[in-house]
Amino acid sequence: MIDRLAGAVRNVPDHPEPGISFKDITPLLADSRLVRYAVDELVGPWREAGITKVVGIESRGFILGAMIAEELGAGFVPVRKEGKLPYTAIRETYELEYGTDTIEMHIDAMDASDIVLIHDDVLATGGTAAATERLVEFAGASVAGFSFLIEIGALDGRSALRGHAPVHILLTL
Ligand code: AMP
Repeated sequence: MIDRLAGAVRNVPDHPEPGISFKDITPLLADSRLVRYAVDELVGPWREAGITKVVGIESRGFILGAMIAEELGAGFVPVRKEGKLPYTAIRETYELEYGTDTIEMHIDAMDASDIVLIHDDVLATGGTAAATERLVEFAGASVAGFSFLIEIGALDGRSALRGHAPVHILLTL
């Protein structure tokens, strides 16, 4: 089944720019049995972790992130690119290879009582996930772990998260 899952991730060369091999999960999302399998596998390690909120990173992290949250009996919190959230937000700016990026989370999305799982579809350099962790910590909540469907092994995003909370990933591509 894990091979079928890996086979349902499409590599799109040179998207969105030359040199990037984009991991397109839409073929996987189109197959409900693969989605069911992926969600079960992603949820497994966290069932007894007391997770109260799952943070999904814009935008593909929203899809499985919301399903993981529901399965864990936790709330779902979106982290979005700057300027997208309607209410008062806290923000974090982080370095990219060229330039910077900013992500935001609603100021009332969580509090010190929350135990948080951070989810995205793809771990690349890990910069976005690390910045999301800082947002969660700024809000006073604690990060129990990170959850990704796919890691791009060559980029070693795990090293950006080394020494942080535990990381669980289904596929290394
Ligand atoms: P990162 O470099 O780990 O901070 O990734 C930045 C964001 O872009 C994350 O939301 C990743 O899921 C997404 N991303 C980065 N590289 C890829 C890729 N090759 N295919 C699909 N999504 C990607």
